[in-house]
Amino acid sequence: MNEIKIFTPATIANVSCGFDVLGMALDTIGDEMLIRKVPEKGVKITKIIGQNLPLETHKNVAGVSALALLAQIDCEFGFEIEIDKRIKPGSGIGSSAASSAGVVWAINELLGKPFNSSDLVRFAMEGERLATGVAHADNVAPALFGGFTLVRSYEPLDIISLPTPKDLYATILHPQIEIKTADAREILKTTVSLKKAIKQWGNVGGLISGLYEEDYDLIGRSLEDFIIEPIRSILIPAFDTVKQQSINSGALGGGISGSGPSIFALSKGEETALKVADGMRSVYEKIDIDYEIHVSKINKKGIRILKY
Ligand code: ADP
Repeated sequence: MNEIKIFTPATIANVSCGFDVLGMALDTIGDEMLIRKVPEKGVKITKIIGQNLPLETHKNVAGVSALALLAQIDCEFGFEIEIDKRIKPGSGIGSSAASSAGVVWAINELLGKPFNSSDLVRFAMEGERLATGVAHADNVAPALFGGFTLVRSYEPLDIISLPTPKDLYATILHPQIEIKTADAREILKTTVSLKKAIKQWGNVGGLISGLYEEDYDLIGRSLEDFIIEPIRSILIPAFDTVKQQSINSGALGGGISGSGPSIFALSKGEETALKVADGMRSVYEKIDIDYEIHVSKINKKGIRILKY
């Protein structure tokens, strides 16, 4: 096998109450990448379509993640990367993570899988470090593992794959404004009151239990963030109205996707998820900001091969 074409998914990090630890993969939104073995050693990005992103290996998260992997083995050849970038950078649905995770997954396939998923997360985190200044794993883990993931610990890295209830759908509204992850981190407080922490870990436990039990009502009750959302939502136009309208339209709950500006809602069944999309649209139709809306099942598999 000399080249591989993959689909690498968009992801929703944090999932409301799980800042920096929870994430989930989407099924219908993602990038395509082509990775090819070449005789020259090293990593070269030869083509990017869809978005204006750096081709220089050290400036692109795909290049940096690939180099992190190659630093761990003695490889007699190199790799060329082509990216069809469909997830807009800065959207909050893991644009950088899709590239970081996708490239290391594909190279691992081309090498005959010398690395396990946790190794791949570690390499892809180096791409995230380039994009945001922090080597977080809450987007790259679900892209690589599929479904929902929990980063139980960063040191040592301990990622838990969680079950995905079969009728769970996400609706995402992406206002076409840019919020840099680094800026969205800057405004956060560094301390949390015990009162809020108690509510928050109750919800994280509730959400995880809801996923295991396929208890959609429990999932809905647990989708509440007392710590990050009250601060970050100020950056997102009409956030509270969109969230309330989603719930009125039948969503279980929702919140900010990653560091925003995208807003997500989870629903039981596609029909409800589409109604939620209509509800979100009705709010943004009245605002002078362009937007996109996506509806997707939760992706249980993560990255997948399109062509060898
Ligand atoms: P998102 O949450 O959508 O991933 P981020 O703000 O975390 O958005 O990351 C986007 C940043 O990463 C942008 O500054 C972008 O220029 C940079 N970047 C570098 N390489 C890539 C890539 N291959 N895909 C997406 N973003 C990239």
